[in-house]
Amino acid sequence: MNTIVLASNNKHKIEEFKQILKTNIIPMEEIGFCDDILEDGKTFYENSLIKAQAVSKFLKARGLKYDVLADDSGLCVNALDGEPGIYSARYGGNHDDEANRQKLLKNLLDKPDRTAYFMCNLVLLKPDGTIVQGIGKTFGHILTEKDGNSNFAYDCLFYSDELGKSFSSATPEEKNSVSHRGKAIKDLLINLNKKS
Ligand code: IMP
Repeated sequence: MNTIVLASNNKHKIEEFKQILKTNIIPMEEIGFCDDILEDGKTFYENSLIKAQAVSKFLKARGLKYDVLADDSGLCVNALDGEPGIYSARYGGNHDDEANRQKLLKNLLDKPDRTAYFMCNLVLLKPDGTIVQGIGKTFGHILTEKDGNSNFAYDCLFYSDELGKSFSSATPEEKNSVSHRGKAIKDLLINLNKKS
């Protein structure tokens, strides 16, 4: 893979992608894209495509030919009909992780089923308009209180069935080995190989 522009400035995501993809990844702010992208899609796929297209359009206007990678991800809780889902980042208010976690814990108070999964949808958009997709899910359940050291979003409330521990108490390598993003990247690489 060549240099890829990531349609995100989220430092946690960039680090995870760098570690898993082991390729040169530039956050979108490094190419001068600083606009907020309106994610008004109805699905993870639609939102990742919206992000990829916005950055790709910006590159094209400047004659730059990079592949663009965009992801949309979130936590889906079975007893809440898949909530927070595509609204994970703003579930309890305006991009406030603590408010998001408190709302989730409150909504699950009377629910015996706490099973959940993280979902990640990746879109790689090439300069010629080709779209390659990658999808990943990782399963677990929502803890009744915070665990571990990481304060990243829902990590301290998510107990991973595959690791046998919370995401926040796992090392980055452990999390990447089972995470939705890790699996979506593997799926993307398989789909890229099919196209070449
Ligand atoms: P996005 O940046 O629009 O994809 O929003 C993703 C949101 O889903 C994040 O802001 C988090 O709230 C949540 N999320 C996605 N992946 C993870 C993860 O690996 N750990 C914890 N929360 C996550």
